[in-house]
Amino acid sequence: TTAVVLFTADLRLHDHPPLRAALAGADEVVPLFVHDRAIEAAGFDAPNRRAFLADCLRDLDAGLRDRGGRLVIRSGEVAAEVCAVAAETGAREVHVAAGVSAYARRREERLREALGSAGRGLRVHDGVITAVAPGAVTPASSDHFAVFTPYFRRWSGERLRDVFGAPRTVRVPEGARSEKVPARGGVRGVSEGLAEGGEKAARRAFTNWRRHGLAAYEDRHDDLAGDATSRLSPHLHFGTLSPVELVRRARDTGGAGAEAFVRQLCWREFHHQVLAARPAASWENYRTKHDRWRREADAAGEVEAWRQGRTGYPVVDAAMRQLRHEGWMHNRGRLLAASFLTKTLYVDWRVGARHFLDLLVDGDIANNQLNWQWMAGTGTDSRPNRVLSPVAQARRLDPDGDYVRRWVPELASLSGAAVHEPWKLRGAERERLDYPEPVVDLADGLTRFRQARGLG
Ligand code: FAD
Repeated sequence: TTAVVLFTADLRLHDHPPLRAALAGADEVVPLFVHDRAIEAAGFDAPNRRAFLADCLRDLDAGLRDRGGRLVIRSGEVAAEVCAVAAETGAREVHVAAGVSAYARRREERLREALGSAGRGLRVHDGVITAVAPGAVTPASSDHFAVFTPYFRRWSGERLRDVFGAPRTVRVPEGARSEKVPARGGVRGVSEGLAEGGEKAARRAFTNWRRHGLAAYEDRHDDLAGDATSRLSPHLHFGTLSPVELVRRARDTGGAGAEAFVRQLCWREFHHQVLAARPAASWENYRTKHDRWRREADAAGEVEAWRQGRTGYPVVDAAMRQLRHEGWMHNRGRLLAASFLTKTLYVDWRVGARHFLDLLVDGDIANNQLNWQWMAGTGTDSRPNRVLSPVAQARRLDPDGDYVRRWVPELASLSGAAVHEPWKLRGAERERLDYPEPVVDLADGLTRFRQARGLG
């Protein structure tokens, strides 16, 4: 017998329940990835993610070849391609990871229907993309948690399945036709400092993180210049690491660093369960309040300065330039950049979310949109009117100014924390810097914000 495994956001061989189930029930397995035309049509395949995906597919194919198999790659409408591959190989069953977004759910429905009408079955597996399935834990009065701490408590009490390794051999039938494995080199407009994708790179990064980063995570995760977070987010986004494995191994390691790390992993699952229950929150306010944003057209120059990292606020500019250069940004940078756009400039969070999705290698509908909403105060933050001052925050998160100097070379001649307030320099010294004046006065921004929110 033959089974198909459709890979989506789970591009790994380790700890992969659909692959394991397929291998247990069939003699031959077709590992399949479909370049989904609908995702391309939605403008969601930004260059950085496309390049990273190429690494992932290349590595998945290599891993399968090491085991006697290969990856089958197709392009088109997913359900149609899966049905065609199943027909070509005589597969009776298709295995796939349970999806979270509205799109993934629709894909599941289309697959079920198309396969069903051809007499084939679909098996959907939990514990692949998130450790705990969205909706598996709920409060008494709702279909999802809107507050993190009680969610974290319940989530922490869930029993996770055992972790298992990659299969030794994968026998793939002859019949299935495949496109060529894509190469990162074929993608244009990729960030210069983009990380390497693929399961091998992911596992290396995770091992390195457990040895050298995890223990100090609790103390150092807010240190912008120290860059001491795991940087595992793209690997989690593409599923080259298993969240169940990460949680279990971190818990086995123990200590304050590991606990703080698991808590962060839970934030990812928190946002996934919000999105699963409220799919419209991907582009609509999760709470309906606060809809008096300035439109992009009314703030075009300011928004463009924000995108280019030329707002005149060094820490915001450093973060925005890191995003452009690496396709990745430190969490504290993301918070500062988002607060600046939505609170200081009072521009619609969707403008920022779109820009992040265009560049982030870990750009993710659940995490990106709901973190933007959180910072904009339209989401789950219990203090929706908090405003992060780019000056006070910079002094706290980048006390010596090293993060700013790394990303804003025009300010490299300024020492220590002076780099955070270049407007305080006098005369010739200020003029020598090829660096913009602030696009907005922070006090004016705050006044506009308070008025718009009716805060007096
Ligand atoms: P670590 O600090 O090492 O954390 C470990 C893992 O926990 C991360 O890889 C990530 O999977 C998860 N995590 C940590 N913080 C969060 C959080 N606040 N929300 C959800 N998951 C979290 N994360 C994305 O994965 N994709 C996005 O598109 C994304 N967009 C964001 C947009 C904004 C405006 C903000 C404020 C945050 C966004 N985040 C997003 C969350 C967070 O900033 C990144 O996950 C984190 O910076 C990734 O770096 P890391 O892997 O070193 O994180």
